[in-house]
Amino acid sequence: MQVLASPTSPLLDSFGRVGTDLRVSLTDRCNLRCSYCMPAEGLDWLPSAEVLTDDEVVRLLTIAVEQLGVQQVRFTGGEPLIRRGFTDIVARTARLRPRPHIAVTTNGMGLERVAPALAAAGLDRVNVSLDTVRADTFRTITRRDRLGDVVRGLAAAAAAGLAPVKINAVLLRGHNDDQAPELLAWCLDRGYELRFIEQMPLDAQHGWSREAMVTADEILAALRTTFDLTPHPDERGSAPAELFLVNGGPGTVGVIGSVTRPFCGACDRVRLTADGQIRNCLFAREESDLRTALRSGADDTEIAERWRRAMWTKRAGHGIDDPTFLQPARPMSAIGG
Ligand code: SF4
Repeated sequence: MQVLASPTSPLLDSFGRVGTDLRVSLTDRCNLRCSYCMPAEGLDWLPSAEVLTDDEVVRLLTIAVEQLGVQQVRFTGGEPLIRRGFTDIVARTARLRPRPHIAVTTNGMGLERVAPALAAAGLDRVNVSLDTVRADTFRTITRRDRLGDVVRGLAAAAAAGLAPVKINAVLLRGHNDDQAPELLAWCLDRGYELRFIEQMPLDAQHGWSREAMVTADEILAALRTTFDLTPHPDERGSAPAELFLVNGGPGTVGVIGSVTRPFCGACDRVRLTADGQIRNCLFAREESDLRTALRSGADDTEIAERWRRAMWTKRAGHGIDDPTFLQPARPMSAIGG
């Protein structure tokens, strides 16, 4: 018999997993145009009236932390640094108790300017998406000639104490799949922690294909042409990355086999979109509308209960390898990574 969570319980699903890691998308807009994410002309952005205000975001964060047991908050986009008021949202999140761990996933553009203020506001960590350190490849993948901005942003984050700076990379066949050892060497030289992520079917153009995807096995084989990799001795827990020591350590590299080595059984994530919808999985096909509840006067207890109900129905996993798999209607840029 299915039993719904009690009013005082955390974000439990019917498989016994507990959502403690909240990904909050602050905007669906971005200042790059990565070819694996969106078309060159961009997308139809969310109307601004539908986007949660800063106060609404903070109210939902307060409910998540104080009533639902959320311990980690990761801000995402689109590109979260282009959200006006971002630093203030971070500062208000850092005042919640128990204080959550606060991170941001960014493309690194503009980080040079805001890293010190974000660190002072209470940001704990940055994950920067960077697929190449060659200017021509960067321009081809992102359709913008801005590698230098990202490189300076990374250095600024490290200097501001947002360490360890983590880098997320996707390998794309025919573009940068020959650059994995080069990217790792570059990151090791600078003390950045690199993680390669298998490309997932979340692009707006629906251009993803299983055959074209560079798999975790291929990533590891490419790295092993240059480096000796041994499994990291630490427990993996719910972390998506399989960690390896590089040449015996202390440098590491992570590989996230989102598609071929899914980790859904240990998933502790839940997502809030910029327009106030709860998604219990990256690949969820249903959402739960908290924005309408917020704006029609629901109190915190009712919102918390709606959130718990949304979580309870989380499926066992993404099912990308299932013949009936359907890509979610929202692209990655509107979900948050
Ligand atoms: S696909 Fe869904 S269930 Fe699997 S790890 Fe990602 S969010 Fe969690």
